[in-house]
Amino acid sequence: MTPKSVIFAGACDLKRRGEIDRKDVKSILFDPTICDETPTTLPHAGMQGPCELARVAAFEIGFVGGGAVLALNLVIADGKLHADLEQNGSIHGPASDVRYILSRSVCPTVLATQQPKTPATFCQEPWHIAVNFSFAPVFNNQIFARGFAVYVESDDHPTPGVQAKRRQLVANAFGSAIVLWTAALQNARKNLTGELAAYIDSIVSRSSSGYALLAPAQAVPATCPDFGSIHVRWLTDSETIFPTRKDYVGKAQVEGRTIALDARDFDFVWNLRGDQISQQQTNLIKVLAHEFGHCIGLEHAAPGQRSVMADVLTEIPDIPTAADAAALIDMLGRHIRGTAPGEFNATSCSGLRAKRPKAPRTN
Ligand SMILES: [Zn+2]
Repeated sequence: MTPKSVIFAGACDLKRRGEIDRKDVKSILFDPTICDETPTTLPHAGMQGPCELARVAAFEIGFVGGGAVLALNLVIADGKLHADLEQNGSIHGPASDVRYILSRSVCPTVLATQQPKTPATFCQEPWHIAVNFSFAPVFNNQIFARGFAVYVESDDHPTPGVQAKRRQLVANAFGSAIVLWTAALQNARKNLTGELAAYIDSIVSRSSSGYALLAPAQAVPATCPDFGSIHVRWLTDSETIFPTRKDYVGKAQVEGRTIALDARDFDFVWNLRGDQISQQQTNLIKVLAHEFGHCIGLEHAAPGQRSVMADVLTEIPDIPTAADAAALIDMLGRHIRGTAPGEFNATSCSGLRAKRPKAPRTN
């Protein structure tokens, strides 16, 4: 049941209530200076009790079935609530399960030590530690961000342990794929100006003895689908997306945030030294570097050209070429919004073959 209206409490006094049709609400502004009067369902200490640290503005989110959490920030969009609980990670779930939101000033220790109780319909994302992490785009292209949360959708109902390993494998390989692209950008630094040059300079640390350390955008494994900025489908049984056996290793939504992997026919591994994997294994780094190229808008390179965007895995070089770097720079400059994570349209996606088909296709 979705509530039809939003109830406002005048200056947080629940006796002074106003009601407005939900469809008429575009945004709600909370003023923390006028709202702390209402008794809270959360532990009293830290609310009105003593606090050795400076209090911070927070929201108390109460749920329909009972229970509440404290959040530093929240967004309600497309019928979903996303709330940042700082050290307790973030929560994501249907806004219709939220009963109230109150503005509070709380002791930081209460935020840190709360045991968030959310309805079963909510997903709780743990806190991730990542350097310089941000979902903000690097330049005009909205898909190439300063950080990625990689969510893996599996179709084979794995145990939580298997799923966690898979999530880590894909996030690691995706992170390495981003390193490849970023290194290409760094190598082209002399051709860059403005925001792109500033971006590269901001992620390279130099020592006085001449060493340069590149700290590119990081990829963290997402637990909640709503936290994932990139969705990877781990498919063990998809006749729709991978109709032919041992043909395409992966496909991606062009100008999108969704990648599909054929995990039925390929044994994916993450290996920084590609020479150490067996013939039966497929290194996910090159596959994801290629598919991410599609995500940011790149099409396939000309046949026979060595490129990350070659349409056959065996023709992808270990490191991106100067032409790849130029193609990346071109794409970063374009205003590309991309489709939402999880959106995958089989007719507007592009794929990577394991090897070139023997006989030319007649159709
Ligand atoms: Zn492709």
